[in-house]
Formats: sequence, C-alpha cells, structure tokens
Amino acid sequence: MSGGLDPFDEAINLDVESVLEDILTKLTANVVENSIPIQVKSSPKTNCSAYDDFDFDETNDLQGSKLTLVLKERSKRRCLIKSLQAMKRAKFDPGKSRSSDKVGYIYSISLLEQVNRIAKVKGRASMVHELIAAYGLLSLPNVIVISSQPVSKSHLLTFHTEEYINKLHSTEKTTDNTIATTNYDCDFDDSSLFDSSAANFEEFGLAYDCPAMNNMYTFVKEVAGSTLTALNALHLGHVSIAINWFGGWHHGKKDEASGFCYVNDIVIGILWLLKQGYRRVLYIDFDLHHGDAVEDAFAHTDKVFTLSFHKYETGFFPGTGSLHDRGYGKGKNYTLNIPLKDGIRDENYIKVATHALTKVLDFYKPQFIVSQFGADCITGDPMIGFSLTPKSLKVALSILMETKLPLLLLGGGGYEPTNVARTWTSLTGHAVNYDLDDNLPDNKHFLSYGPAFQLSIEEGTKRDQNSDHFLSTITSFIDTQLKKLD
Ligand code: MN
Repeated sequence: MSGGLDPFDEAINLDVESVLEDILTKLTANVVENSIPIQVKSSPKTNCSAYDDFDFDETNDLQGSKLTLVLKERSKRRCLIKSLQAMKRAKFDPGKSRSSDKVGYIYSISLLEQVNRIAKVKGRASMVHELIAAYGLLSLPNVIVISSQPVSKSHLLTFHTEEYINKLHSTEKTTDNTIATTNYDCDFDDSSLFDSSAANFEEFGLAYDCPAMNNMYTFVKEVAGSTLTALNALHLGHVSIAINWFGGWHHGKKDEASGFCYVNDIVIGILWLLKQGYRRVLYIDFDLHHGDAVEDAFAHTDKVFTLSFHKYETGFFPGTGSLHDRGYGKGKNYTLNIPLKDGIRDENYIKVATHALTKVLDFYKPQFIVSQFGADCITGDPMIGFSLTPKSLKVALSILMETKLPLLLLGGGGYEPTNVARTWTSLTGHAVNYDLDDNLPDNKHFLSYGPAFQLSIEEGTKRDQNSDHFLSTITSFIDTQLKKLD
C-alpha cells in the first residue's frame, strides 16, 4: 500500500472509533457504488488474501491498460478496507473478530431484473424490494445495502456439472452480458422464453416448471452471486446478519433444474463457506417444500447439518424428507427432517420449531447459520399447505438471532406475491429491530395489497391435521436422533 498521509493515519490520533467507522463505511460504500462486474484476482503487489478466493465476474471483455487500471484501483480500495477492519478488530473487539451490529441487504438492479424473469414468480423480486424500501428499512443506520456481484463459471462448477452450465450458456444471446430482455418493470413476457424446439433441454430439467429462457447463464451467475456476496460480507465481519430475498433456490440439482430453481445458490454458498474453513454450518429450511437438493449435497458430511420443516404427504413435491432420512456415513444423524401435515397453525408450528431449533443449536453448536425462509408456508399460498402467519417465522428468526452467529436469511418459494412481500418485509423489520406500522406505506404496487392494505396476515382457517400425538412423536424422535451426535 502506498505511504503518505493515509486517512486512517490521522484517524488513529483522533476519536479513533468513530472516525475509523466513518472511513470504513465510506470506503465500503465506495466499493459498492463504483463496483464494476469484473474479476479481481489477487495482485502480486498486494496481500489482500481475504478476497483471493472470491473472484467475481470474468475479465474477458476488458483488455490491456484499462483492465490493469481498474484492477489496481479495486485492489487498492479493498486493501484499505481490509486494513481498516484489521485495525478495528485489534483496537475495539479483540475477542470477537466477526462482531458487527450491521445488517446487510443484498441488492442490485441487474439481480432484480434477472430474478423478475422467473416465470413462476415474475415481478415478485421487485414487489418485495419496493415494499421493504417503502418502509424506509434500507436507510436505517444499522443497515448496509450491499451491491450484489455475479460470480464466475468456476463458482457454478463447484456444484453444477459443466454439461449443465454449458447448456445454460447456450442460451446467451449476447456476448457482452447485457440482458436481451430487460424487465425491470416486471412485464415478463413470453419473448423471454427460449425456443427450445431444436434443443434437448428436457434432459436438464429445462421444461415444464423450469422453462428454458434466454440468457440463463447470465441469470444463474447473478443468482449464485447474490448469495456469495452475502456470505462474503458475513465472513469478513462487515455485517452480522445478511438478507438475500433473491436467493434460496433449494431444489436446483447439480445437472438439472427443478421446482422453479435453475441454480442452487445455497449449495454453492455453503461449499464456499467450507472452503473458507468453517467446519459446522447449520442450514435451516422453512419453505413449504422439503429442501431436497441441499440435503442431498451434504447428506454424507458432518460439516453441514441440514434441518428442513416442510409439508410431507404422498404426491406432494418433491416427495422426500421423511423423519427417517437422517443422512449417510459420516453424515448420519446430521440431517433432520420435520415432516408436517396440512393446515399447521402458528401455535403448533412455533412449539415444534422452537423445540427443534433449540435442540439442534445446543447439540450441533454451529459456527455459521444459513436459513431459507420460503414464504409458501404462509396461509393463502396457492401451493396449499400450512396456515401460518409471519409470526411463526419471526419466532424462529428470533431464536437464530439470539445465537449471535453469522446469519444468512434467504428467500425461496412463495407464490402469492403480496403475502411474500408482507412476510419478507416483516422478517426484514424484525432482523433490523424496527417496528413496522401495520398500515402499508405508499409504494408502486400499493393497490395490489387491497382491500385491507395492511402488513399483517391473518391466520388461515383450515383444520390443522397435526394432532398433539403426532407432534409429540416428532419431538421425541428429534431428541433421540440428536443424542446420537454426542
Ligand atoms: Mn417451496
């Protein structure tokens, strides 16, 4: 790093804590605002190893001196940030190197554009983002908006097969990564769908619920990148909680799209965490559907514990996730499934979820928590399952927050878009410790929230088919399984 009058040289002699905080915030914002989607490999002249493994997008389209300049500038800024963080840790927080009271919210226009394109949830990403922004949650002093960065192919290949990724790549219509169909206003139309008549897309699951689209490669790089951006911020201690409502695609298989999921950002993210040296990662899945592909990916290891709450019934997608699926080999008992029946309401869900979460945290003692808050478990979802309100998820979130561990919140399913926006906005408010008025603020989609125009969701009236006896069978099963972890 160059010598001279560094801003933090001066800072040390002043009101150290506040000045450093200020500089760090400005520098972080600077990187975020000015970030260019290119790969930053470690420069031989710097020692910024913290970023070495997190190479963002490819450099192919930038050449010569322009590239060198850009790389130098970014490396320099990142070195500054790293040094400041090290100083902060050394001076103010020697025992808790990752502590921060900030919540990171992952966002970028291009990420929203891409996630808005998913046929089953077209425009949902914008609805969610606009409601959260309308409540003013993104301007709170304890919230950092983190610009999502797309990843390179090498990250996708940590989980997906080259054949599958090449198939997605074959749908790129442009070479400069601009999006052929720009749908920021959520006007998804069928012109975004790829003409798959001549190609064998079906064998990669790219049909029916996951129709082939144009520029799927650009799409999956954005989605996987959003979750890696979040995990990177947590890993570096920029934030203690990171929120990425645009990730959470838990059904994506290594060589196949499945259940509206074209890429498994969760598995890619957890693999990255393992590469950083974490040895006990807890994954929790609250989506109405079983988190099958995440469970499969880590069923043989004890380094990742997967816990999934879901509706389990003959013929209900994806058909897996019974109480008796507990992992294999070294991973035996490090998979826990909570298969529930139709119509479960807050009271019963909170009981069983509190029990399972408390026990798993106690027995597994994770270092890092990745959680998927699919909102299709909320009453009124067209997938028809549970009768929950966001209260259940808030109670679960409170339990996770109390651990003070690095915590990632992800989205997932949810097919009644106004309820999804209500649910994830409520959870965002909860995570940032801010009380939200039940009367919805004006926002672009305000009229969609009628007739009540309220944030809260009333509990469903369906009969809860989970008897006390059934639930107590589950809780005693949990206790028996977790005792085997000792
Ligand atoms: Mn789902």
